[in-house]
Amino acid sequence: MTCQRCLGGMQHAVQIERTLHLARNETELERLDALPDSDAILAGETIDLVALVEDEVLLSLPLAAMHAEGECPA
Ligand SMILES: [Zn+2]
Repeated sequence: MTCQRCLGGMQHAVQIERTLHLARNETELERLDALPDSDAILAGETIDLVALVEDEVLLSLPLAAMHAEGECPA
């Protein structure tokens, strides 16, 4: 990623732990979503796992990536 302070390259470790329930239909989706601390999505017969993981990673990225305090050359 690019540091928004010095515009230099920086590494950003991604660590995501998430449980996602896959619902087969709207009824199941409502039931699973109502569970405490539950996250559910409607999934058909097949699911694009790569796209799902990609979305999770993109959502986890900071809006403005910056080197940690004291590590930025700027
Ligand atoms: Zn920086």
